[in-house]
Amino acid sequence: MKINPGFWKKGLNSVGFLLAICRHRFMEDIMLENTKAGFKQVVLLGAGYDTSYRRNQSFLGEVRFIEIDHPNTQKRKIKILVKKSPEILEKVVYVGLDLEKDDLDSALVGRDLVDSEPVLVIAEGVLSYLPGDTFDKVLQWVADLADHVCFVADYRLQQMTDKDAPLTVKRWRKEFGFMHENYNSFFSYETMEKKLINFGFRIKRHLHLANLWKEYTGDRVPGHLMHTAGVFIAGTITGPKSIPESITDAAAAAARLSTFLKDKTMTVNLDKAYINGDLCIQCGLCDDTCNYDAIDTTKDPFEVLPVSCHGCGMCAGVCPTNAIDLRQYLDPQVESQVRGILEAEPNVIIAYCCAQCGYNAADVAGTARSDYPEDIRIVRLPCSGRISLDSILMPFNYGARGVMVVGCLEDQCHYIDGNISAKERALKAKKALDLLGVGGHRLEFFNMSSADGHKFVEAAKRMVKQC
Ligand code: SF4
Ligand code: SF4
Repeated sequence: MKINPGFWKKGLNSVGFLLAICRHRFMEDIMLENTKAGFKQVVLLGAGYDTSYRRNQSFLGEVRFIEIDHPNTQKRKIKILVKKSPEILEKVVYVGLDLEKDDLDSALVGRDLVDSEPVLVIAEGVLSYLPGDTFDKVLQWVADLADHVCFVADYRLQQMTDKDAPLTVKRWRKEFGFMHENYNSFFSYETMEKKLINFGFRIKRHLHLANLWKEYTGDRVPGHLMHTAGVFIAGTITGPKSIPESITDAAAAAARLSTFLKDKTMTVNLDKAYINGDLCIQCGLCDDTCNYDAIDTTKDPFEVLPVSCHGCGMCAGVCPTNAIDLRQYLDPQVESQVRGILEAEPNVIIAYCCAQCGYNAADVAGTARSDYPEDIRIVRLPCSGRISLDSILMPFNYGARGVMVVGCLEDQCHYIDGNISAKERALKAKKALDLLGVGGHRLEFFNMSSADGHKFVEAAKRMVKQC
């Protein structure tokens, strides 16, 4: 595939570029998977200059392919196609539409869309540009398109607009202003899920783009290129750039840096990892596990960089010598908590819940006054990836009836993949419990979102039944 150099010139830095490739590949994979499975209607919302149909003609064959985009963009695209691939114009239905101003309901009238047949709707890089009311209008329209709609879309996280986050929307716009992009809709994971559920969708997969990069390449997104507090990169190191673009980039980095330097000191939370140099054997496992490049392996002994550390504790979960630990969630602290619970109430079930999803799901169940078994005791952890094999097995030493580990949904770990490591560790621990004669059925791993109060109740009931 030839990459249009203009793509770089428009200022996509290398991380943005890598992630955009993953996003496109993912959406196209879904399209091919669904059309192979029998979908005969595809709607590309905000198709832009994408040429999916042209590239995948052999698969798409007789699929009804409808591309919707702003009339000006579409006019230009058609002009290019007339010269380069006129045959495509016969196959694809083009609908010019301003999502903000035009009437969506009449857009597809007379365009051969059969509402009794399933429709796949793909909206790549569109939703974030819509103002809130248009966003809802578009979601409702998609939901009502046919009896069975499969919808694939991406959006931007509200995290970018939170005042404490490193990247505010104001700075985002300043930094990417030269791309003339005007983002409007930012949502948290939870808000987005609620919105989709309200419009009648059932969420099949909800993931972070960094997970896709890992899925496709087996590699993690280079931590030093992610937005890491205290680390700034600018200019051509991020990709080919002109001198004015490099200057803009450097000015943006300097502006961000000034917010760190103006106070002379930087305050970081206490919940960061630290390494005991006497115990560390420099195996590098913590460095391989850390998604934020927070371990400085050039130092002897190795050191954790507090400004880069996100406090997930995944490193502590893998260290073979317990040399690295997470302040406020130290191994002895977790153990004391579990021991205290079991000394007071032997035979209860310990639920290790990640602070992001599992703990909130339990909270939702409580707020909704859902009825769940009284013998569940919750131990909060920053991420399920914090849990080591030792910590999973330890409650059984103190007489626990069972252990449940609750992490975020498969692709939604707030620290990228802590839940995957935790699940793998729980599976190993189950085998160990079987070998020990304790019984692997007394340990389970559960994935749920922060809104899944009902799933927490089901999981708790299941544990009580099987332990
Ligand atoms: S995993 Fe533990 S022993 Fe290995 S390098 Fe990290 S701190 Fe040291
Ligand atoms: S706590 Fe998480 S972010 Fe910090 S060093 Fe360990 S793995 Fe990296």
